[in-house]
Parts: sequence; C-alpha cells; structure tokens
Amino acid sequence: MPAKTPLDAISLPCGADVDLLLEQAAQGRGADWDAHQQACAHCQAALGELTALWEPVAKAAAGPVSAPPGLVTAVMSQVRRLVHDIWYTLESTELGAVRIAARTVAALARDSARMIPGVRVALGRSIHGEVAAAAEKATFGHRHPHAAVGVLGRTAVVDLAVAVGYGDPAHQVAREIQRHVTATLRDQAGLRDVTVNITIDDVIDGDDGR
Ligand SMILES: [Zn+2]
Repeated sequence: MPAKTPLDAISLPCGADVDLLLEQAAQGRGADWDAHQQACAHCQAALGELTALWEPVAKAAAGPVSAPPGLVTAVMSQVRRLVHDIWYTLESTELGAVRIAARTVAALARDSARMIPGVRVALGRSIHGEVAAAAEKATFGHRHPHAAVGVLGRTAVVDLAVAVGYGDPAHQVAREIQRHVTATLRDQAGLRDVTVNITIDDVIDGDDGR
C-alpha cells in the first residue's frame, strides 16, 4: 500500500482514530465493522466516505500501471479537509464549500420520517423517555455518546427509533422510512451515501399514536 502521511491523531466524536479508520478503508475492510463500529454512526459514516475516497488509489494500485505520484497526496489532503469539521458535512463545489451541521441532517431525517403515517419517531435507538431525550440532546448538542447521526463529507448515517401502529407490517414501514429519509437527505442536503438504521422499539395501540 502507498505510504500516507499520518493525520496527526485526529479523532471522530466517538474517539475513534481517523488514521486507523483510513487504514481499515485502504485495506478494503471498510465494511468489516468491529463491535464498536456496529453501534457507531460516526465510524460507519467515516468508513463509508473514506472507502469511497480511497477507491481511485485502490484501483490504481490494482492496475498494471502504478498510481500517479500526486494521487495519494491529493486524497490525503481531501481527507484532511473532511475531518477538519467533524460535526459537519462537506461538499466542495466550483462556487465554494457547502457545510451542513450534523444536527440539521438529524432534524431533516427525523422530520421526514414523521411524514410516514401512523408512526412515532425519535432520534437514536429507543423512542422511550430518558433514552430518547439523551439521544436528542447529544445529537442537537453535537455531543457523543448517544448522538444519532454521523457525517463525513457527503456520507451520513442516521439512527432512528420508531414505534409502529398495531397490526402494521413493521419491516415494510421501516423500509418506507428508510427510502423516504434517504431521498430527503439526498435531495435536500446534497448527501450522496445515506444509511438509515431503524430500530422498531414499540407498537402504538389504538389511537395513542402521533
Ligand atoms: Zn465510533
């Protein structure tokens, strides 16, 4: 693998070392999540974005011609810019940079999920009282742990907890929310890779929904 310059121990909000995540992505193991990564939206978003960023380098390395000299340097400077504001997305356009706060991505995701009839939605992995309140506070305060959204570059991972109506097909409702939220984040936030993790946490009985 080509030599890289270390990122000077930049960490994600969860404390994960970006150098190690880049190493993992560069080795083609961006989808091999350890126990922490399986539960961490920050790491999942970072591994997704870093894998995509590293792809041209990996492709060049696999081909008969060696990677052009400037390629790794260019990718590394892009990675450095992305991790500079760890709680913001970053899209570079010819007109300048567009950054969107993770809390804004979270609000868009939650509000678009609530458009699906008959569901109750909270940020995080539980819609219940204290857990949901902690997730909301952490997410909107840009604090880990319990933050329900991880962003890097144009990649976002969102955790949503959902209560479905009694008798509603939970998995179909979950898919519908995933599709709807993904479309919203792509259209309204310009994100490219969106993952929406759904935890069905409760069933709404009778008329107490919404
Ligand atoms: Zn993490």
